[in-house]
Amino acid sequence: MMTMKRERPAAKPSVGDQMLQLMEELFPLHRSLLGEGLDLTLQRLARELPLDLLEVRSGTRVFDWVVPDAWQIRGATIRDTSGRVLVDYRHSNLHVVSFSRSVQRRMKWSELAAHLHTDPAHPDWVPYRASFFRDTWGFCLSHRQWLRLAENPEAEFDVEIDAERQSGAMTLGELVIPGESTEETLFYAHTCHPSLANDNLSGIAVATYLARGLLERPRRRWTYRFVFAPATLGAIAWLSLRQPILSRIRQGLVLSLLGDGQPFSYKQSEQGDASIDQVVGHWMRERELAHRVHPFEPWGYDERQFNAPGFRLPVGRLTRSLPGGYPEYHTSADSLELVRSDSLAESLAACQQIVELLEDNLVYRNESPYGEPRLGDRGLYRGYGEDSQRGQFQQALLWTLNQSNGQRPLLSIAQRAGLPFAMIREAARVLESEGLLSVELPHRRTPGGDAASVPSISSPQANTHPC
Ligand code: ZN
Repeated sequence: MMTMKRERPAAKPSVGDQMLQLMEELFPLHRSLLGEGLDLTLQRLARELPLDLLEVRSGTRVFDWVVPDAWQIRGATIRDTSGRVLVDYRHSNLHVVSFSRSVQRRMKWSELAAHLHTDPAHPDWVPYRASFFRDTWGFCLSHRQWLRLAENPEAEFDVEIDAERQSGAMTLGELVIPGESTEETLFYAHTCHPSLANDNLSGIAVATYLARGLLERPRRRWTYRFVFAPATLGAIAWLSLRQPILSRIRQGLVLSLLGDGQPFSYKQSEQGDASIDQVVGHWMRERELAHRVHPFEPWGYDERQFNAPGFRLPVGRLTRSLPGGYPEYHTSADSLELVRSDSLAESLAACQQIVELLEDNLVYRNESPYGEPRLGDRGLYRGYGEDSQRGQFQQALLWTLNQSNGQRPLLSIAQRAGLPFAMIREAARVLESEGLLSVELPHRRTPGGDAASVPSISSPQANTHPC
C-alpha cells in the first residue's frame, strides 16, 4: 500500500522568536546618535509599522542642546608595524568609540594607550563607549587584546580610523494609534546603541510588537503614541518638536532591558502616584514584585527627560534588569546570547496586560446618585463566579456605585474597597449595561475624525514623511 508522504507545514515562529529575529536583523547595524545605522534601523521598523520618520537637522537647537553633525564610519584597525591586524572594526562595531574622529598615523604605545578602553574585570568583553559631543577618538577592546598590545612598551602601531562627520539629520520614528479619547499613552524606546541586544534592541522589539497588536485591536479607549529615538538628545528633540501635544500625554512608559531573564522592575514617574504608577504598581503587586518598584530618581533612561520640571509628564519605566545593574551592560556580552525568546514574549505580554489595565481603569459617573438604586429589581444581586463570591460581588456593586463620582478610577475604588480589580471592573460593566453608570472619557474624539482638534506639527526643523 502506498502512503502519501505529507509535508508538515512549517510552524509559525512564536512571537518571542519573531521579536528575536527582528533583533538579529538589527543587531549588526552601527546605530549611533545620527547616521546610517540609525536610519536603516528605523527604515526596517517602518516595514513592521506605519511609522512617520522625523528628521532633526544638524545644528538645530533643541532646548539646551544642539544636534551635532552626523557620523559615518567605514573602517578602523590597529596594526603592528609589520602590518599584522591586532584590532579590527569589522569584527565588532563596538571596537571604535562612536563618533571618533578620523586618525591615520603611526604612534607609540604611550600615545595609543591613552585612547584605549577595556574592562579588566571581564577580560574577554569589549566595552561600549561613545563620544557624541567631544572631538576625540578611541578604540574599545577586550583586556586580553590590550595585554597583547601592551607587551612591549617601546612598540609602535599603525592606527587608522576611517570616519567622517558631516551635516545630516537625526531621525526619530513615531506612530500615533488613535483611540476614542485624544488623551494619549506614550511608549518610548531608545535607538542609539550599536550592537547591544538587551540595551536596547529588546525595548525596540517589544515596543514594535506591542504597537502591532494595538493597531489590530478593535476598540481603543485611549490614543497610543510610540516613539523610537536616540537616548537623551532624541528624547529632548522629540519633546521640543511635540510641545503642542504634550498636554495630551496622560501617561507613558519607557521600555528597555526586556530580553533578559530577571523579574520585572518598574521605576515610578516623578509624581509617584500618577495613573501609570497606580496601574503598573498594581500589576507588580499582583505578581509579588512590589519590592522591584523603584521611586523616581533623575538618572537612568529617558524617563528623566519626560519627568523634567518643564514637562512633568507622568512617564515610568519598565525593565527587567536595571540600567547598569547587570555585568554585561554596555559590553559586547550584551549580545543576542543574553536575550531569550521566552523573556521577550513575557515582556510583550506584560505590556499588553498593562495596556488592558489602562483601558479598563476608567472613571465612571453614577447616573442614579440619589440614594441606592434598586439593584434587586434589576436582577443585579445574581451571582458572580463561584457562589462564595456572591456576597463580595454585591459589595463590589455598592462600592462602585458609591465611589463613581466622575473622578475616581476603578483601580482606586478597588483599593479602597479591598476587592480584586477584576471584580470591580465587572461590577462597573454590569452597572453600565443597566444604565446606572456612564463612563467619563475625557476629550472624546469627535465623529469623523478630530483633525480640527489636533494641532498639526509644522516646524522648520522637522521633515515628516510617512514611509
Ligand atoms: Zn545604554
